[in-house]
Amino acid sequence: MKLNELIFNASYLELDPIFYNKTTPLPLQKPYLISGNLEAAKLIGLDAGETQTEEFIDFVNGKVLLKGSQPFSMCYAGHQFGHFVPRLGDGRAINLGETQGWNLQLKGAGPTLYSRQGDGRAVTRSSIREYLMSEAMHALGIPTTRALALIGSDERVARERWEKGAIVLRMSPSWVRFGTFEYFYYTDQHDKLEELADYVIAQSFTHLKDKEDAYFLMYEEVVKGTAELLAHWQSVGFNHGVMNTDNMSIASVTIDYGPYAFLDAYDFNYICNHTDQEGRYSFGNQPPVAYWNLSMLARALSPIISIERTEKSLESFGELFSQKYLELMRAKLGLKKKHSNDLALVKHLLGVLGSQDLDYTAFFRTLSHYTGNTEALLELCSLQTPLNEWLDDYDKRLKEESDTDRNTNMLRTNPKYILKNYILQEAIEKAENGDNTLVNSLLELAQNPYDEHLEFERYAKSTPSSYQNLKLSCSS
Ligand code: AMP
Ligand code: MG
Repeated sequence: MKLNELIFNASYLELDPIFYNKTTPLPLQKPYLISGNLEAAKLIGLDAGETQTEEFIDFVNGKVLLKGSQPFSMCYAGHQFGHFVPRLGDGRAINLGETQGWNLQLKGAGPTLYSRQGDGRAVTRSSIREYLMSEAMHALGIPTTRALALIGSDERVARERWEKGAIVLRMSPSWVRFGTFEYFYYTDQHDKLEELADYVIAQSFTHLKDKEDAYFLMYEEVVKGTAELLAHWQSVGFNHGVMNTDNMSIASVTIDYGPYAFLDAYDFNYICNHTDQEGRYSFGNQPPVAYWNLSMLARALSPIISIERTEKSLESFGELFSQKYLELMRAKLGLKKKHSNDLALVKHLLGVLGSQDLDYTAFFRTLSHYTGNTEALLELCSLQTPLNEWLDDYDKRLKEESDTDRNTNMLRTNPKYILKNYILQEAIEKAENGDNTLVNSLLELAQNPYDEHLEFERYAKSTPSSYQNLKLSCSS
């Protein structure tokens, strides 16, 4: 399909106008394409060549609106670091509408009714991070928003220093957040909760549409989806960094990439967000925070679903999370059979990885080649006894498996390449100096994390010590 053949509709605009504000994007000056994503283009049926045209840049810049597109921003509230903020909303996100089941949104296309003190802009640095990481997460099998394109510009944006403005065109099955429900609960507009729930069911949970108990079943789905999403994050070593309720998706996809990080060495207490001094959103705290966020959603839904019922559903979170986590960790270890001691085996390993400062990703990738010779694994640690002891247990456990494809399966499960912050930083610095080639190479790497990429071999090694534990601020 050609770009001008895309047709948008905006079912969100059929809701009461209190849900949104119609707005016009403010295009960036002198825009240029940093990267177009052919995989995402395919999702909406767009021809590959279309991402290379001037019209495409105008489209991503919000300068040209396509058929049916009526731009709008969404209103929501949210608990930020545990404190309720009554009105947030899309301060720098402008929705273009829905096409082929995807809701397209410009991030950084100027101020909206919800911008508060913000300028409605996004800088190149954070836009590159969001663009690449959403694609990386998808390739790792983790539910996430996607990104169609990234444009930069010469327009200056004030942060701690002057930076260049950019826009990411993001796509999601839904942009409704836990905080969207919270807005209507805390402003006592409880009739709007039903309207929103009906919309969410029609968009994201169509199989519940004619069910008598649809609202409760929707909540149950959100609990399950969130538990499974968190299991994915924990198994791959992803720290989101800002799990406020306005950054939690009702469709259980990873949204709003900010100061996130992948673990270098395994560290349960790792905090990627430089402003999160107490570690509320530390790596290990993510599942309990998700549970707390779901309890806030339950409160917001209490006028339409009894709190006793949502609380009961919420009780299943721990079990749902553990089951999924164990399933994912078994796969990382190449175990097909279920054994009652498997969780203990995983915990033992995490203890070793933590105490030995072993790079989480590099360890599992090396283990994926393991056929009995421990040399490559032991080379990763300074003190070998703890890992040797674990490997004895692992060997015993492997004897109960009959899978001859174990190594092949593990190599398709344990990525060789993940985008650590120092790698992204290299691409950002180049792009800020006008060279976008590394951004595009990293997109390729992100989309094929299990393959060998000889020219980027160094990115698969343990993180160089001077680059470990980089912390990022929320400023973006
Ligand atoms: P975030 O931490 O990116 O999830 O943002 C939290 C809230 O602040 C959201 O409502 C954003 O829309 C808003 N926000 C963040 N940065 C800006 C900005 N530069 N201009 C306007 N609003 C912003
Ligand atoms: Mg946000």
